[in-house]
Amino acid sequence: MTYPNTQLLIGGVWRDGAGARSINVTDPATGEVIGTVAHASRADLDAALVAAEAGLRVWSMTGVFERYKIMRRAAELLRDRADRVAAVMTSEQGKPLAEARSEVLSGADIIDWFAEEGRRTYGQIIPARQSDVTQMAIKLPVGVVAAFTPWNFPINQVVRKLSAAVAAGCSIIVKAPEETPAAPAELIRAFVDAGIPAGVVNLVYGIPSEISEYLIAHPVIRKISFTGSTPVGKHLAALAGQHMKRATMELGGHAPAIIFDDADTAKAIKALSAAKFRNAGQVCIAPTRFLVQDGVFDAVLDGISHAAQAIKVGNGAAPDTQMGPLANDRRVLALEELIGDALAQGATLRAGGKRIGNKGNFFEPTVLANVPLSARIMSEEPFGPVAIVNRFTTLEQVIAEANRLPFGLASYAFTRSAETIRALGMQIDAGMTTINHIGLGLPEVPFGGVRDSGYGTEGGSEAIEAYLVTKFVTQMAA
Ligand code: NAD
Repeated sequence: MTYPNTQLLIGGVWRDGAGARSINVTDPATGEVIGTVAHASRADLDAALVAAEAGLRVWSMTGVFERYKIMRRAAELLRDRADRVAAVMTSEQGKPLAEARSEVLSGADIIDWFAEEGRRTYGQIIPARQSDVTQMAIKLPVGVVAAFTPWNFPINQVVRKLSAAVAAGCSIIVKAPEETPAAPAELIRAFVDAGIPAGVVNLVYGIPSEISEYLIAHPVIRKISFTGSTPVGKHLAALAGQHMKRATMELGGHAPAIIFDDADTAKAIKALSAAKFRNAGQVCIAPTRFLVQDGVFDAVLDGISHAAQAIKVGNGAAPDTQMGPLANDRRVLALEELIGDALAQGATLRAGGKRIGNKGNFFEPTVLANVPLSARIMSEEPFGPVAIVNRFTTLEQVIAEANRLPFGLASYAFTRSAETIRALGMQIDAGMTTINHIGLGLPEVPFGGVRDSGYGTEGGSEAIEAYLVTKFVTQMAA
């Protein structure tokens, strides 16, 4: 596989930016530059806005069944290309090939789900007060969408926004991540090759703040969707508010993973360690605060530490690699700081703790135990391969700790008590709670957070609503 240079897609044409500038792309496993991505100037953004407006006119008038067929074709093309696209993703992002392949294939499932949902955007007939009046609530596409996505899941983060938007009849400008540009471009190529009309999907890269500030304020854009960190999300949500734009925000998390004395601890250790170290922990829903009840604390801490030590870290392209490098060197520095601070404040290091070698961004799967609340890592999202294992005694205590932070995205628990399960489902203040298994992120289930983790859902039957407006039409017999 030769790593491709990535171009912009504007009005159905793949091309370089008008200013002929490009940004280097680096393989996080080697630190070497492997390609470039085109950089969009203001002129390119203006061209994308014109193209997206034209795309909206065509696409919103295209029948839903036709839209569905094009989307299903795009999903099939993506499946056919899964091996090549996975190799591209591993080169630019670092994750093991198997994880990259599964991201591509689940991307195809997400396209299928939204294609089907697009056919079910039912409105309502509202009984009228007069017999010669018909009152209708109809669903129309919101308009041109701007989507901003990060580097941790180069395809998954785009496909949820893109599929919901086009299924609803919107056109979209995607600002995909400059660090991992080629995999999202391959996703979008599948839509182009499936026959989506020119201008419906546009793809740009450049300086994120310049692009978002320009697009969010622009009158052509009617909705924005952002996935990334809470501080950037708050900034973009404020901009969206200032310009009265609808917004979906999928932001950071710091998920509690609660293991009770009565849990199947072997199952909990296996499932939660796999979830923790997947994608080197660079996952907004990754279990982070392992809160373990007194009676099983030592056994669970030992189990998670052994699981961390057994993980084979290496180049994601090698078939036996279980965890690749971190996607960029910012994460290495951030983790070194957070772990150093936790240890200085009295935490115990039970596994890992440091960078591996001096080439590429490899980091040891790390387990910290008995971390005091004052440590930064107890409040800041580590976004890396670090599990924090702390103990608790009572249900009330652990619910208070689970809800202590302003984040509320994912939460995990393992227990055999029906009463505890019910209490957790009702009382954990998070967008998602998964109990006795890892069951988050399927296309058909809600995906989103509360409080500082953002608003809106990017999965399940509600997700397409974010791309629709309800228009009321009342008519009287003439
Ligand atoms: P960052 O906060 O600078 O950027 C996060 C993402 O937002 C990146 O994709 C970036 O390109 C984009 N971004 C930044 N400023 C922007 C702007 N003004 N307009 C539009 N997009 C903008 O930090 P980073 O180093 O890339 O990532 C670090 C943190 O981001 C992590 O610690 C994690 O908390 C968060 N993050 C979250 C997710 C997620 O899935 N929710 C994904 C990636 C990163």
